[in-house]
Amino acid sequence: MTLDAESRRRGLTSPPPARAGSSSCHLLVVGAGPAGLVAAVGAAGLGARVVLAEERLLGGDCLHSGCVPSKALLHLARRHGSAMGVVEALSKVRERRAAMSEADSAGKFQSIGIDVLGGRTRFTGPGSAMVGAHEVRFRKAIIATGSGPFIPGIPGLDSVPYLTTDTIWQLPENPGRVLVLGGGPVGCELSQALAGLGCPVTLAHHGERLLPRDDAEAGEAMAGALAACGVTVRLGIAVRSIARDAGGMVIAATDFGPILADTLLLAAGRRANLDGLDLKAAGIATMADGSSVPGCDGIRVDGYLRTTNESVFAAGDVVAGAPRFTHASDAMARLAVRNALVAKPWPFGLLLGSTWQPNLVPWCTWTDPEVAGVGEPGPVLHRIDMQANDRHALEDSGPGWLKVWTDEKGLLTGASIYGRGAGELIGTMALALRERWPLRRLSGWITPYPSRSQALSRAGDAAARSALTPAVAKWLKWWMGNTSP
Ligand SMILES: Cc1cc2nc3c(=O)[nH]c(=O)nc-3n(C[C@H](O)[C@H](O)[C@H](O)COP(=O)(O)OP(=O)(O)OC[C@H]3O[C@@H](n4cnc5c(N)ncnc54)[C@H](O)[C@@H]3O)c2cc1C
Repeated sequence: MTLDAESRRRGLTSPPPARAGSSSCHLLVVGAGPAGLVAAVGAAGLGARVVLAEERLLGGDCLHSGCVPSKALLHLARRHGSAMGVVEALSKVRERRAAMSEADSAGKFQSIGIDVLGGRTRFTGPGSAMVGAHEVRFRKAIIATGSGPFIPGIPGLDSVPYLTTDTIWQLPENPGRVLVLGGGPVGCELSQALAGLGCPVTLAHHGERLLPRDDAEAGEAMAGALAACGVTVRLGIAVRSIARDAGGMVIAATDFGPILADTLLLAAGRRANLDGLDLKAAGIATMADGSSVPGCDGIRVDGYLRTTNESVFAAGDVVAGAPRFTHASDAMARLAVRNALVAKPWPFGLLLGSTWQPNLVPWCTWTDPEVAGVGEPGPVLHRIDMQANDRHALEDSGPGWLKVWTDEKGLLTGASIYGRGAGELIGTMALALRERWPLRRLSGWITPYPSRSQALSRAGDAAARSALTPAVAKWLKWWMGNTSP
């Protein structure tokens, strides 16, 4: 990394420190990741006086330690492989991140009238908070403090240096043999990127298959895809303890013998950022205050994203049970702004308010091949093999399939796509799900040849065929039989 690139990023995305004093606003937004930035811009667009508080850098995880650097690293690994190596790739990743930080710069938000304050936020009452030494009195607030790496309570872990998704981007030297703990999307993506850049990688996952949230067939295939890139995949592995030997080597003890590595990377999930917020002072409950759902931490909200303080809403990763993605944070922030500033309390909910529908949020793991999904499996499955798609076959894209589920009436309930381009295809399925289309509606949908999206209209064709009632099918057969060719 050039120092210039890094300092440029910091200069642009560092919020100016909050000065001692006090102010009041229509909306206080706490946290300037994707959810907070979208909320602040949306509210300013409605003419509200907005204070945006951020304790670290504007842009949040997505820009600094999540989507942006991880997708850049995957791209560099694919393009250059071990010829580039991890240290050079990370330097390029930081440069690209710096180049993108203009869009999240403090100046940009100040120029549209948003009051940007640097400092940690702590609630002091139902309608007030301190941002550093500055008191903010608010009419409404949106909490968008996101999430951070979950550190599992493995004995010995605290005595061993380890990397997380917060720290890996600054790695100054080659990590050598890497042990990645966790086989969710982040663990799979980083394992593939590091292996592609020439590191020997072992991925250890406690479950029997990778990507537990995805369709089982996709999770099983992902293990094979990673193994083909040189990753040693160990499934059903619980790490009992971690230690370091005199030479600095990491030793992870498991029931199946030790795993040795030079560097340990934790990708064991995320936890909501609630530290120091003093939510109790504002009457805001979290799942930990009464949840029976293990691992489902975060702020409790109702369908309108209202917390237990009716003037305070929450959006993004900090919400208990939220799908932890940038696009989900964006969508929740839009809804929270509308519900906070436009909607009005009403006996049966919020007049002009909208409710949050997490089942409409698609997701994608951006490995090669990609694994994408939306919704839930239903009783009827339509499966299209992507090998039958000309674009997929022409480009030698390897295994791939599209699974679409419907209910008995043919209404779409969910989809899972495995293979190159899955992340682009799933958007259409998310639209169809939101619009409550029957799957057969995609039949006859015209897409350019040769595109992967033709597979979606093939799924529509399959649904249209199976929607023919036996009586209609019998009549058609009779008609053809009685019509001369
Ligand atoms: C390695 C990795 C890869 C990822 N890849 C993808 C991807 O490809 N696609 C995707 O959709 N998602 C991806 N994600 C997830 C995505 O980054 C998050 O879902 C998204 O950043 C959440 O946005 P947010 O605004 O809710 O929170 P965050 O981005 O976490 O932002 C919260 C902000 O609040 C600030 N804050 C916290 N506490 C306080 C406080 N008390 N006072 C003031 N400020 C505070 C934090 O400093 C932070 O800037 C990835 C995540 C990781 C870790």
